[in-house]
Formats: sequence, C-alpha cells, structure tokens
Amino acid sequence: MATIPTTLQARLSAVRERITDACAAVRRPVESVCLVAVSKTFPAASVREAAAAGQRDFGENYLQEALDKLDQTADLPLIWHFIGPIQSNKTRPIAERFDWAHTVDREKIARRLSEQRPEARAPLNVCIEVNVSGEATKSGVAPADVPALARIVAALPRLKLRGLMAIPEPTEDMDVQRRRFATLRELKAALEHDGLALDTLSMGMSADLEAAIAEGATMVRVGTAIFGERHNAN
Ligand SMILES: *Cc1c(COP(=O)(O)O)cnc(C)c1O
Repeated sequence: MATIPTTLQARLSAVRERITDACAAVRRPVESVCLVAVSKTFPAASVREAAAAGQRDFGENYLQEALDKLDQTADLPLIWHFIGPIQSNKTRPIAERFDWAHTVDREKIARRLSEQRPEARAPLNVCIEVNVSGEATKSGVAPADVPALARIVAALPRLKLRGLMAIPEPTEDMDVQRRRFATLRELKAALEHDGLALDTLSMGMSADLEAAIAEGATMVRVGTAIFGERHNAN
C-alpha cells in the first residue's frame, strides 16, 4: 500500500488517479467518469477546500445539512447531487435547489419533484435507484419494476431521466461487486433498447469504484476517500 495522503487535496488527487487507472484498465476515456464528492457530515469549509482543488460536483444525503451547505457555498459554481433517501414531504427543496436527484424510487416522488421544479431552472436530472442486491431492507426499486417507473419518469415534463443508480451491499469480493454493477448496466441497456435515451450509471463509492468503472459507471460517488472517515452519527 502507498502511504495514505493526509491533506484533502492529496486525497482528491489520489481518487482522481484511481479513476484514471480504472478507466485505463478497461480502455475508457477518463472524461467518461464524473467524480461526485460526497461531502455529507463534513462542513462547508471542506467543500470549499475541494472546490479550490478543482472539484465541481458534490453529493449530499441529509436535506437540512445539505441546504445549509448550499447556502454557505452559494458564491461557488458547484453542481449539487441529492443522493439520500427522498421523503415525499421533503421534495420541494430538492426540486428547487439541486441539479440532480439520484434516488428516485417511486412514482409519487417523481411526480412531486416534477411539479415543484421551478420553471426558471433546467429540468431536474434524475436517476432511478435500483436495488441490485435484493435485500428487503434496502431502498431502490426491484429490477423488474424499473421499466415501468422509467417510462413514467421519462414522461414527466420537469424531470430529465438520465439513468440508473445503485448502492450495492458492501463486499470485498470484486466478482460480486462487478456482478451487481453489471446488473445495473444491463438494465440501462434494456431501457435504451426500448427507446429511452440515457447516459448515466451512478455507481461506485470509495471501496468499489474500480469495479463500477469496469462495468460502465459514468458517475462515482466518493466520500471517505476524499474527506476522510465520517465521525458523527449522521
Ligand atoms: C455516503 C455515500 C457515498 C459515499 O460513500 P463512501 O464509502 O464514503 O465513499 C456514496 N453514495 C451514497 C448514496 C452514500 O450515501
């Protein structure tokens, strides 16, 4: 193992290098993967530090914490991704303030986001969250239910369906990681075959971004490897 970089800037560089290497290994252009820096539990100062090092896309899970951070960094040209569970009574700030929502998993949420997206903004970019690990407790729609929801979301006027997202159960087994990411890739291909225009596979985190990129990830959501271990209970 190389030494663990100690500054945020060095950790961010190390993550970018992992992405570059993972792309090279499967002959994908490095520009085909967008790094979303997951800043949950870290302060706005950490977002600023990453932004100063060239990071533009940030992901947040917890709405109130996210809104505070958006306010505190409103002077920066950042792209914000909502990646946490979406409660139906909390869709409005997501529709109003975010550029992306990765975790749409039911029709009601999608309809509310579309109705609440301000006319002055471009349509909200959305991914449908898919449960690729099959646990009863996980969020996300079952693979079999993705096509029906995708057609509904694609037809909503103020949303732009970009693709699919998954958070597989953690496992060290790279073959298992790849199979789950492959499931998402195949689902996206099936939707495209049915005529939907999609360009996004949001999959891969600190521990498994290589497997995700090997299976076609276009967005990796990385927290710990950039910002360090999260300490609070959030
Ligand atoms: C926290 C989180 C991440 C980042 O996870 P790390 O293991 O810290 O890289 C990515 N995606 C989602 C949905 C998360 O909640």
